[in-house]
Amino acid sequence: MGVWQKEVITGLLLFLAVSIVGAMSGLFMPLALVMALGILMRQLFQINRFERWIRSGGGAKYPKTTGIWEEIYYHVYRIKKNEKKRKKKLGKMVDQFRQSTEALPDAAVVLGANDEIEWANKAAREVFGLQQSDKGQRIPNLIRFPEFIRYLKSGNYTEPVILPSPVDHRITLAVRIIPYGAGLRLLLAQDVTQLKKMERMRKDFVANVSHELRTPLTVLKGYLETLQDMDDGRSPLLTTSFQQMQGQTERMQHLVDDLLLLTRLETQQKKTECINVPALLIQICKEAERLHGNASARIELTLETDIRIVGEEQELRSAFTNLLGNALKYSPEDSLVKVRWHLTQNDVVLDVEDRGEGIAMADIPRVTERFYRSEVKRTKKVGGTGLGLAIVKHVLMRHDAKLTITSELGKGSCFGCYFPLKRICS
Ligand code: ADP
Repeated sequence: MGVWQKEVITGLLLFLAVSIVGAMSGLFMPLALVMALGILMRQLFQINRFERWIRSGGGAKYPKTTGIWEEIYYHVYRIKKNEKKRKKKLGKMVDQFRQSTEALPDAAVVLGANDEIEWANKAAREVFGLQQSDKGQRIPNLIRFPEFIRYLKSGNYTEPVILPSPVDHRITLAVRIIPYGAGLRLLLAQDVTQLKKMERMRKDFVANVSHELRTPLTVLKGYLETLQDMDDGRSPLLTTSFQQMQGQTERMQHLVDDLLLLTRLETQQKKTECINVPALLIQICKEAERLHGNASARIELTLETDIRIVGEEQELRSAFTNLLGNALKYSPEDSLVKVRWHLTQNDVVLDVEDRGEGIAMADIPRVTERFYRSEVKRTKKVGGTGLGLAIVKHVLMRHDAKLTITSELGKGSCFGCYFPLKRICS
């Protein structure tokens, strides 16, 4: 029999007994009242005992009782026990997580909605010089580098920001923010000192080698020109050798120039001024006509807007010249090359479009890599260094601009340079 049934039956039996005694003695109402009061008192006593037990935390042992109250005590006790077990398990998990994040070599800081520090691991305390007492402090008050504050405010965390460690300037950190949960953000910082050192060494090496090659190349070129002047044409072998040597030294000179330009783009501070792009394009097209023989009939320059942009003239000149040079180089001598400067809703755009050999789908993502030249069977050999588009990409990056390439083999290509509207100046 269930406890509830027992409770009900006991109640009914009590009521029956009171009814019989009440009927026999004629005191049914007072007896019923006494019975009801008795039941009420008993329940009040139980409730009071239960409240005292639960107030004291519902500890290990519950008071001895019977009937439905024993059931209630038992169920509450079981729920509390399970909850305790779960809490213990959760606590253990949190401890393990804390220990593992404490042991992480990368710095990790949990930031709240107002950039306040909620938690930081050991590496974070070391590289950022944070103290346990900094909990709750706003991180921009502790890491005061302007580039970090800009990054934090920007809300665009796709790329990390590179910073020196506030405690040791010899340590370089790549700091990245990862938003999660409701308004929370995880700040991760990785020590990239070695990586940056290697990168600097590579840049220095390329810059030094390119620079050192310049003088011997100029000397070689000078002597070759003298020898060519002295050549009387009696030995065809000598004449073609001189021509080839000259061709190769010129190629090397282009390579060295391009490498030096790339190094400058990577290392030099940005200098900016308001550039008259339409005038620059007119100039570049004129120069291309001079350089590429009959190009005058091939270039169609359309200036739909006279918008100027903030930038570095020399760099933009190199990028645009490379794009126009490629369009002329990789298309038939009688085909049209369209250059268009125009405005869209979000950008100011330079399109350079040709009807040339085009680029294979698989090559498109790779043509902006250094030294990458797609292999196309051509009727005539086309010279190049494979650095032109790498230069274009770098220049555009320095101007917050994007390069788009649409191309189809055998049909032609279109290179688009998209400058954001914030670059517009007057
Ligand atoms: P380079 O022209 O000196 O080889 P670039 O970096 O300028 O180096 O170009 C890389 C490669 O991209 C080229 O070798 C060529 O195969 C391809 N390419 C660039 N521009 C065009 C174009 N307008 N049409 C077809 N192919 C192109």
